[in-house]
Amino acid sequence: MRCRVCRESAVINLPRHNIAFCKACFCNFVHTQVTRGIKAQQMFTKDDRILVAVSGGKDSLTLWEILLSLGYRADAVYVDLGIGDYSIRSRQKVQNFADKVTQTHDATLHIHTVREEAGVGVKELANLVHRPTCSACGTIKRYQFNHVALEQNYDVMATGHNLDDEAARLLGNVLHWQTEYLEKQTPVLPASIDGFAKKVKPLYRLTEREIAAYAVINRIDYIIEECPMAKGSKMLMYKDALNRLETESPGTKQSFYWKFLEQQAKKGTTTIVDRDRAQLHPCPTCGQPTSAEVCSYCKLLAKAKMATSDC
Ligand code: SF4
Ligand SMILES: [Zn+2]
Ligand SMILES: [Zn+2]
Repeated sequence: MRCRVCRESAVINLPRHNIAFCKACFCNFVHTQVTRGIKAQQMFTKDDRILVAVSGGKDSLTLWEILLSLGYRADAVYVDLGIGDYSIRSRQKVQNFADKVTQTHDATLHIHTVREEAGVGVKELANLVHRPTCSACGTIKRYQFNHVALEQNYDVMATGHNLDDEAARLLGNVLHWQTEYLEKQTPVLPASIDGFAKKVKPLYRLTEREIAAYAVINRIDYIIEECPMAKGSKMLMYKDALNRLETESPGTKQSFYWKFLEQQAKKGTTTIVDRDRAQLHPCPTCGQPTSAEVCSYCKLLAKAKMATSDC
């Protein structure tokens, strides 16, 4: 197998493009895909300050590395969820990676520890308020990422969601016809109102396999195991179904998600932004925008405090 670009021996074959690449040309391909996505979706420019949400996994660490390599001003934020050994190991991976990149780049890592603020880890917190762990975790991460982005004046918040993530989420939303979620499933969500940072997904053109290969080639040391709470999640089931389709018919995931994006682009996001503006107001406790009386994060912490004082 030869590299399509330089004819050296190839290390990876990409059936969805019917191309094989050597290490160097594959890294160029990955950088080109990210750059193309950033430009096509007008995510940010070299002048903007970007905050990357990192988890210690391959996607988010790879995203941070790529943005710095491409010359973007990218810092990172990590939320320590307090999920036993998993959180200890993932935090260590993030810290090691940050120590390495800050030797060659001007970058900062912000860390928020759930246990320091709530007194317990996310699993115990969810139990206290009788909510599924992933639902409480989502509330906390969304709040903290947004909080750091606004407090430290970042222009945009970036997450490591890839093509597999987006196609699986789209499949789930279509299967249940969750049109409200469908509307927001684009690689860019504008800062709809003061208090909500702009959110982008620069890896949306790359598959999980391509990102894993890039991480291995570039010696990015990430946590391989999934969060233990992800076991049995519907997203994993949808990913599995799409992988089977992809094996039979390469390019299925790409065409499913990208064609959806083409349709969304025709509609535009103005209506979503306008509707959000009309519904949101500042939370009386923390000031972040909410459509409820009090935001879901403040509600979660207040409920947990009440539950511990009852004990
Ligand atoms: S699997 Fe659930 S608990 Fe674990 S990081 Fe994801 S949302 Fe949070
Ligand atoms: Zn090559
Ligand atoms: Zn609040």
